[in-house]
Amino acid sequence: MNSNYRTSIVFIGIGIFTLLLTLTAILHNSWAEPNETIRVGVLSGDLKSEQDKLILSAYEQILKEEGFPYQVVTLGDLVNSTGKITNNYDALVVPEAINATMPQEISQAISSYVLSYGGSVLLVLDPATKAADGELRQVGLLSELAGVKYYLPASEGQPVTYSGYWYFASADKGREWGITPGKLNEEHAVSSYSYGKLNFEHARAANQDANVVAFDRLDSSEVPVITEKHYASGGTVVYANLPLAKYKLRSDDLTIRSVLRSFLIKKAHLPRLVNSPGGAGGLVFNLHICSGAYFRPLTVMLMQGIFQKELPFSIHITAGPDTYKLGDQMGFSAENKFKGRPLLEILQDYGEIGSHGGWFHNFFAYNMQYLPQEQVIELLQWNSMALEAVTGKKVVEYSAPGGNHPYWFIQELEKEGIESYYYTGDTGSSPTHAILDDKPTEGGTWAFPITPYRQFASLEEMERGNVPPADVKHWMQDLIEFSAQERSIRMVYTHPSDKSYELDAMRAFEDKALTEQREGRIRVAPMSQFADFLNRHAATTWQVKKLEGNGYSIDLENPEGLKDMTVAVYVGDGSKNVVIGEYITTVQEEDGWLYLTVNSNEKEKHLEVYQV
Ligand SMILES: [Zn+2]
Repeated sequence: MNSNYRTSIVFIGIGIFTLLLTLTAILHNSWAEPNETIRVGVLSGDLKSEQDKLILSAYEQILKEEGFPYQVVTLGDLVNSTGKITNNYDALVVPEAINATMPQEISQAISSYVLSYGGSVLLVLDPATKAADGELRQVGLLSELAGVKYYLPASEGQPVTYSGYWYFASADKGREWGITPGKLNEEHAVSSYSYGKLNFEHARAANQDANVVAFDRLDSSEVPVITEKHYASGGTVVYANLPLAKYKLRSDDLTIRSVLRSFLIKKAHLPRLVNSPGGAGGLVFNLHICSGAYFRPLTVMLMQGIFQKELPFSIHITAGPDTYKLGDQMGFSAENKFKGRPLLEILQDYGEIGSHGGWFHNFFAYNMQYLPQEQVIELLQWNSMALEAVTGKKVVEYSAPGGNHPYWFIQELEKEGIESYYYTGDTGSSPTHAILDDKPTEGGTWAFPITPYRQFASLEEMERGNVPPADVKHWMQDLIEFSAQERSIRMVYTHPSDKSYELDAMRAFEDKALTEQREGRIRVAPMSQFADFLNRHAATTWQVKKLEGNGYSIDLENPEGLKDMTVAVYVGDGSKNVVIGEYITTVQEEDGWLYLTVNSNEKEKHLEVYQV
């Protein structure tokens, strides 16, 4: 199945701008003036505590990383003197907890925003469920609008929320809502690496007249977890019955990201600056070479053509001579011409050589938290220096042996010039700034979460867990398709292997990846290349305004250059579009989205899109 059906598009350079001006003037009767800036409004409600600020910042982080134009709006600024929403928002996001107490005039304004203006709203967990005195209302003020009686009081003495599960009706429904392949178990419940089926906090709720997309089962009845209700005005109300920000703060990024993205892209049709190079899907294949035990598997992989220059991997190596303890000689020994060096010299042509931790793999993994910080840093430096001595190239990628590291260590990595690292939290999600020890990691270093298949991460874990080989291959192909469709970056990781189970899975990944990469639908690249792009993406300022007749005016700016930046705008189906602006590649998809990619490295760009 390939949904990337491309229709032809009229592309006109700036040279015949005058002709177009006339054409457009005729079509629209008057030259459309750029007017409203497009953006999402995020309702900040009532920020009483540090926790409240963290909730809001989790939403802002995802909106920034995903390239959505947004503005935080207070309750006071949301409604104008006539009791209407200042109609500058193209969608409204109402986060949990901080909007629990909401005056009636605000909830009424939100309702009329949907009913009269066709606005789309995401309601999370408990908006307008408390009166000004903090007393829980019998029913949330926005229940009728959502089509769900949500956040219902529990029986005497019971907490309002409970711990349950998050089921989708089918695998396809999960995918439609942005759940990465491998993150749903056989019952279509959201699951994770090493845990299996995950618990989620829900409130008691009863569906009235919304469409239930995801649900839980409680006392033999169905509790809606995600619902959507569509209005004749064109507006859509999505209700999400789980505290989205809380999960981001606890190293589960995919929950909030999938709901926000799916709502804003698929329901509200908000434009965005796509967070992947060229607006294509992105895949990282991360290989961990922990010790000298991998000499034979690596040789077999090389002989069988698993390493391909068109598909550069992130190859991370523990470089020291030892593995378990000083002097055991079990290491990769990167500088030793009788051990790792000849392999490393070949491998450097097949991707980016990164560091897999601190010189001796197992010793470092088990002792990191007990060693003085200076010693940990020294081991990290030794590892990078040994690799750099052979490749002559700076080490800029990192994977922790054993998977975990504390907050302070990420800051050290950044000082060492590392800009991307393998991450066992936020599984199945896009590269992100992880939240470690309750603190957001800021700056230019990106966490690349592993994408698990159910409770397994590496291919050898899947083999040990008796996952049928056909299922693994299918998952690999599914993941690439998902990444292409969602235009998102995902990472998988494993170790070198000479077993057919792993080799066949790698081949399945590569065959599908090569096909889709040649079609321009995905790119396979080392994590540092994606990190470079994401840093440029984060530093790009841009604005999109509405023009008359479904048109858009777009301005982009980045002192480092705009190459590969892609703006997605919704143009609906059927019509032809005229794009004004040079050095732009345009792709119009069957689903109504138009993708405009800058293919020069200019620092500023102005674009206009017209429907004709
Ligand atoms: Zn390892």
